[in-house]
Amino acid sequence: MTTRALPLDLPVAGGKPDASVRLHPLRAAEVHMSPRFYERPGGPLAFLRGMGAFTPRSKWFWAPIPAFLIEHPGVGAMLVDTGLHPTVADDPASNLGRRGAAMFKTRMTSEQAIGEQARARGVDPRDIGHVIMTHLHWDHSSGISEFPGATFIVNKAEWEAATDEGLLKGYMHSHFHPLYDWRTIDFSSDSVSSYDSFGRAVDLFGDGSVRLLFTPGHSKGHMSVLLRVKDGEVLLTADAAYARRTIEESLIPVVVDDEHLYRRSLKEIQRYLEPRPDTVVVPGHDPVAWADLAEVY
Ligand SMILES: [Zn+2]
Repeated sequence: MTTRALPLDLPVAGGKPDASVRLHPLRAAEVHMSPRFYERPGGPLAFLRGMGAFTPRSKWFWAPIPAFLIEHPGVGAMLVDTGLHPTVADDPASNLGRRGAAMFKTRMTSEQAIGEQARARGVDPRDIGHVIMTHLHWDHSSGISEFPGATFIVNKAEWEAATDEGLLKGYMHSHFHPLYDWRTIDFSSDSVSSYDSFGRAVDLFGDGSVRLLFTPGHSKGHMSVLLRVKDGEVLLTADAAYARRTIEESLIPVVVDDEHLYRRSLKEIQRYLEPRPDTVVVPGHDPVAWADLAEVY
């Protein structure tokens, strides 16, 4: 793996005092999930049961794979995650590989590709200057090659894990385009501070409009994203919480990279939300919560 990533200079230019962003949640595709995947069962063979081995396929459901288009008054258009590559609509193996396509069943139309969805909302995909990667699992990284002009922002710990580990940990190296502008955030550096209940957070543009929250556990360097929108706040938990129930019932999913860190991150999210019941929360892969989202915030 020769792809290079350089440190991101913070704050990124373009911030404006009291700026708020416009957020378009995008349903990039869907993935077939076992309900068990969200909630670790106990007892013998818990892992196999959790992976859905004994759950009839009729009980599986289609969960959204989300990505987000954000418009900032000073910075312009950016994304959170990239959804799936347009070719996955007709030929999943071409982007996900034969093994990946066999392991994960996806459902997508070509109109769901993120570039197409941006265009439909009046944004030329070539104008997308930044892509925040919550983490680098395949269902978030598959569309990366569609945005050659963007700066990709990722947690340094996630970058290191993703370039070290492979498909068994959810990473597909072919997605991490070597010639793209990769920039890392080191959450252990002295310049990173806490924000409210979050032990480590970064104010990306220095204006409070986009905060990157260090929420490891699902993966080594997972980030959630807190946005200031016109009428309040939106918290994109990404995979720090697959579903609304994860937050409400402190569910631990079957697969976590580090259970202790996962629980700590979930607690930070819960603490943040307790006094803020009006915050719009978008969990990582929740068909129920997704149905309640507005088209734009
Ligand atoms: Zn995911």
